[in-house]
Amino acid sequence: MSIRDRYAPSPTGLQHIGGIRTALFNYLFARSQGGVFVLRLEDTDRSRFDQSYVQNLYDTFDWLGIHWDEGPDKGGTFAPYIQSERTELYKKYAAELVSRGQAYYCFCSAERIDRVRQEREASHSAQTGYDRHCRSIPPEEAERRMAAGEPCTIRLKIPLGETTLFHDYLLGDVEWKNDDVNPDPVLLKSDGFPTYHLANVVDDHLMEISHVLRAQEWLASTPLHVIMYRSFGWEPPQYCHLPMVMGQDGKKLSKRHGATSIDEFRTQGYLPEALINYVALLGASYEEGPRPEGRADIYSLQELETLFSPDKLNKAPAIFDYKKLEWFNGQYIRMKSDEELAALCLPSAVAAGLFGTAGTEPATEQKNIFTAAMPLIRERLIFLHEAAEKLAYLFSEPALPAVEEFIPKKSDLAAAIKLLRLGREMVQPLAETPDDEAAEAFIKEQAEKNAVKLGDVMMPLRVALTGARVSPPLFGSVRLLGAERSLRRVDSALQLLENAHKE
Ligand code: GLU
Ligand code: ZN
Repeated sequence: MSIRDRYAPSPTGLQHIGGIRTALFNYLFARSQGGVFVLRLEDTDRSRFDQSYVQNLYDTFDWLGIHWDEGPDKGGTFAPYIQSERTELYKKYAAELVSRGQAYYCFCSAERIDRVRQEREASHSAQTGYDRHCRSIPPEEAERRMAAGEPCTIRLKIPLGETTLFHDYLLGDVEWKNDDVNPDPVLLKSDGFPTYHLANVVDDHLMEISHVLRAQEWLASTPLHVIMYRSFGWEPPQYCHLPMVMGQDGKKLSKRHGATSIDEFRTQGYLPEALINYVALLGASYEEGPRPEGRADIYSLQELETLFSPDKLNKAPAIFDYKKLEWFNGQYIRMKSDEELAALCLPSAVAAGLFGTAGTEPATEQKNIFTAAMPLIRERLIFLHEAAEKLAYLFSEPALPAVEEFIPKKSDLAAAIKLLRLGREMVQPLAETPDDEAAEAFIKEQAEKNAVKLGDVMMPLRVALTGARVSPPLFGSVRLLGAERSLRRVDSALQLLENAHKE
């Protein structure tokens, strides 16, 4: 059997972690099995639909680098892949179920349905949902009323007194009493639009979907779907309901826990590779023999495409750990070349005004410095946007820190001035020493010769050059600033310290 699966989002919101996890697992399952991955837009809920959500869907998956084989933008044998363009089909299939005696017309007004609900509430009835009022209308009468233009919906006639069985890949055999299934739900609304259940089942069948991997929250709909397949005389697909994604408090992941929309992660400076890698681990494992040194848990999309297997899915809910995602982001940042990383960090640096006012693009020289500075910060970045703040001292003069900032522990102002004067001597040679090891050897030797601690001579120099005690590596900074600029900064600092000393 050829494997075909799908991602079938309803464009009623931004793409979020749960959605891309479903999409990713379907994508990986199809890829790992040589199957076909389909995108289908389930846009039948017109009140919550918004075109911007469709755009967000395309943008998100484009950014993630996950591509479907068939879909609205791609076409395919089973086009159209947008449900609102398939309404005639759903009408036809709903009518077919009526003619097979598996569905019926319901003429109940919204007011009647509401009244039934209120009466039940008042009498504390345990029954919920539709009361199957129109199920007993003789078909000829129903046809007549329908033909006369009386507004009606079509409801599924759930066979009562039976049980529905299906097999779920993860959960095993699932059994539901039909009497407990949502009573005779609407398949076709009075405006001719299908409900999710009808459109979903008809399309999975017509699009020859063999496997449905979807979030566990859909499990309650599955008996209903299986009943519909049987009513049509069709074979249901194989189901696999994916473990829930929870926040660290064990509750379903939501905005309360932090960012959930992919847009937010993107603007926060996450890399698509990190998100894919982490999301792929939400409820699945991949290890196959020992991983290369330092690559435990690190999987590229290409690797996942071959390693994914439904056998490695977990039943237990997955816990979304923001810290772990940050860790992955750091890991992927480390894997970038200087040029790649600079290109990734540049947009947020431009927006933050690193090269002038906010939005100013870098001049060629600035861009070169920015790229050359990547080795200084690569190991320290968790998010791309942190580059701007960390490298600000290379592009504009840092404010002179307070005098105390220059004074090493257990030392005093006079000593700090001496140390900075000594540091000043080292600026020119350091700026000209192209590698860090040689620079370190040189500065060590100087410290020894002058009988001062290495840290004590580096500290005031660092503060003078970068404006802070904690900064990217000193040697690289001196090289990028150049001797002339560095000396100017040291001189301003010396002046500040000397003036303070005179007072
Ligand atoms: N349209 C449904 C959703 O928004 C699809 C559920 C399914 O995969 O069957 O998730
Ligand atoms: Zn009715």
